Amino acid sequence: MLPYGRQWLEEDDLDAVLQVLRSDWLTTGPKVAEFEREFADFVGVAEAVAVSNGTAALHAAMYAIGIDPGAEVIVPSMTFAASANCVVFQGGSPVFADVSEGTLLIDPAQVEAKITPRTKAIIAVDYAGQPCDYDALRAIADRHKLILVADACHALGASYKGRPVGALADLSTFSFHPVKHMTTGEGGMITTNQSAMARRMRAFRNHGLNMDVQERERAGSWFYEMTDLGYNYRLTDFQSALGMSQLRKVPGWVERRQQIARSYNSAFAEIPAVKPLDVRTDVSHAYHLYIIQLKLEELRATRAEVFSALRTAGIGASVHYIPVHLHPFYRQRFGTRPGLCPVAEAAYERIVSLPLFPRMTENDVQTVIAAVRQVVDRYSILAKETSPKCESPS
Ligand SMILES: *Cc1c(COP(=O)(O)O)cnc(C)c1O
Repeated sequence: MLPYGRQWLEEDDLDAVLQVLRSDWLTTGPKVAEFEREFADFVGVAEAVAVSNGTAALHAAMYAIGIDPGAEVIVPSMTFAASANCVVFQGGSPVFADVSEGTLLIDPAQVEAKITPRTKAIIAVDYAGQPCDYDALRAIADRHKLILVADACHALGASYKGRPVGALADLSTFSFHPVKHMTTGEGGMITTNQSAMARRMRAFRNHGLNMDVQERERAGSWFYEMTDLGYNYRLTDFQSALGMSQLRKVPGWVERRQQIARSYNSAFAEIPAVKPLDVRTDVSHAYHLYIIQLKLEELRATRAEVFSALRTAGIGASVHYIPVHLHPFYRQRFGTRPGLCPVAEAAYERIVSLPLFPRMTENDVQTVIAAVRQVVDRYSILAKETSPKCESPS
């Protein structure tokens, strides 16, 4: 089965990890600081804060901007649950905004419609790897004095009007889960130009202590104070070594992802029942996911049937995502229900994620295209109307 995404580890990645495993420092030490510096430089910001995963990065961001009970944060419904869960971790309420048809990115007009006196922030999700419309979102945030956070877990290596993702919002979060653009096994990062927020997040990932163990060593002191409630969200030094080794490969990997997407685009342009997501002209798309929308009115099948047929053909298709407001937790806790985000709900019935990762061979790409063509042909309404074997014998 060809999965929808997978990691790529080479000998030099393994060597980098082994070297740290043989050293004196295993957890948060010099390699974490080096990784943070390289990552900040990569996206062109002053500060990067490494944490144990992308969800911890989102949680730290909500902490840094002061989300507390009573605060509302606007999030798109078409995303992974963690984009909204992070608001709940801090006692706040996620308010779901619908997405734009075509791109399935958060719709700035819907964001503006959901603002109340309690709104504190907007979380933009660069769904599939395409940056949101940051100029529009920034204008709304400035007009209403809101903080703009980017959940950029899909979009490392992407850019918007020539500006890299990671530098487009007040805080941007990344994940290093194996299906993402680069991996540290589990891992995450927050990027920002605001050093006071970076300092808060470094304490937050380390139990809320005002000094970490390296700083105490340097000061020759045992003394520290816990100044706020924090967590253990630290990344290890050997993961950071892996992260630095992987980060160097990201530009080449993103190019390969874009190349595969171009092959898919030109093949699917000839299949009327298959519609890839729209890509705006002012972005460079990082293609974490390649998503097609099925024109179900042209098919005698549901998405579930197309999905199973693809899996039977060895294509590890997936679906990203069930709109977050439809999950039982949100329905029960926040009273969300179908009809709240009609564009996301309608899209959910039609979307399929196809395999896309840099290590795919040309042959893999052609296998996916052939399988999609075959499955769609089998279920095509046109095929039913014109194929003689389908005519009624009467
Ligand atoms: C992967 C992902 C996360 C969570 O990252 P983890 O490292 O798995 O915790 C959050 N938001 C989005 C959009 C993601 O794709």
